[in-house]
Amino acid sequence: MGNDEFVLISSEPAKVVIGRIMASLDQPYTIKGRRIPTNASIGYLTVGTQTRAPLEIVADAAVALQSAKSAGGKTAHEFTTGLRTELDQFQNLQIDLLDAIKNGEIEPWFQPQVRLDDGRLHGAEVLARWRHPTRGLLSPFHFLPAAERAGLMIDLDHAVWAAALRYARNWQDEGVWHPCISLNVAPDTIADPHFLERFLLALQRSGLDADQVNVELLETTFISGDDDIVAINIDSLAESGVAVELDDFGTGFASFSRLAQLPLTGLKLDRSLVSLLPDQGADSIVRAILALAAELGLQVVAEGVEQRTQATHLNKRGCAVAQGFGYGKPMSPNDFHKWLQINADKALDISPDFAASA
Ligand code: C2E
Ligand code: CA
Ligand code: CA
Repeated sequence: MGNDEFVLISSEPAKVVIGRIMASLDQPYTIKGRRIPTNASIGYLTVGTQTRAPLEIVADAAVALQSAKSAGGKTAHEFTTGLRTELDQFQNLQIDLLDAIKNGEIEPWFQPQVRLDDGRLHGAEVLARWRHPTRGLLSPFHFLPAAERAGLMIDLDHAVWAAALRYARNWQDEGVWHPCISLNVAPDTIADPHFLERFLLALQRSGLDADQVNVELLETTFISGDDDIVAINIDSLAESGVAVELDDFGTGFASFSRLAQLPLTGLKLDRSLVSLLPDQGADSIVRAILALAAELGLQVVAEGVEQRTQATHLNKRGCAVAQGFGYGKPMSPNDFHKWLQINADKALDISPDFAASA
């Protein structure tokens, strides 16, 4: 069909043919003394006795092939009409998303971060929300996977930063808050050769200083193949005075040797660990992470702090900053503005009877 795609028509049962293809591709080829591993993704359907246009059949097989590839490849998927509907919906979402980014439908929301020693506002994390014209407000779970697969993360991230920086600058001009905001940066975005130029331009346009901005990177950033560009971008960011934090720390990917090599300023302790506190096992891990962070000179921000007992515990263990529903959920720019007017100069606390469902 083109490149490395083939069509095969057979009167044998599909499972038999697929088994044979997979088994023969499982043997590596030896070319010039090197062993080259091969494998295949297969999409198939059984046509039976019905009369169908050949192109339609191939199109259905292509949908099944797409599904096999998305599942990680090296597997065979059978076509179903459900797959076609899923693919259509997904493609519609991708098209909508592109327009949404252009039309400013992706909004920056703000969640407060609080210093545990004195309860003062430390900063805010910027979290994307999509104000969809027909489906209402969508959380990242509903659109980030599509944005990633469509290669739209870079544009989405830039749109969110630009908007967030504008709001922050306005609040600063109004004198309601001296902002410090944390921006999420997707693995694709930090691997973009134009990242630094675009980031610094957005920062410059906002008129905020570099030390008023943090960048949050996921551990998964460091298992992709674009290591060189990523390292250059992170180094240059740090050189320009922007703080760099490792997000979701404790979920299992980060290698300790990497931690020491990167110009990091902080770690974000994942909610999965915080939510277990004060359980002894979780406490041991949290203490070990805080000790490691102190050793490396990193500030720790605990995520998902919902209860006062968790906050007191983390404070006792030397964690500097907390963020979670206990202090405030992510808020729209309007709501956060109102929240700032009341809370920006207050000592904040979690009420003892705060329930996560509140
Ligand atoms: P994250 O960076 O780990 O952000 C924290 C997530 O935990 C947010 O979910 C936040 O609403 C939620 N959260 C905060 N405190 C609590 C709590 O006390 N309890 C519970 N149950 N949840 C809490 P959200 O906003 O749905 O974002 C999900 C993820 O999507 C983020 O995880 C981040 O990885 C990604 N994301 C969000 N906005 C952006 C963006 O603009 N760019 C990029 N690249 N990623 C983004
Ligand atoms: Ca984050
Ligand atoms: Ca996180």
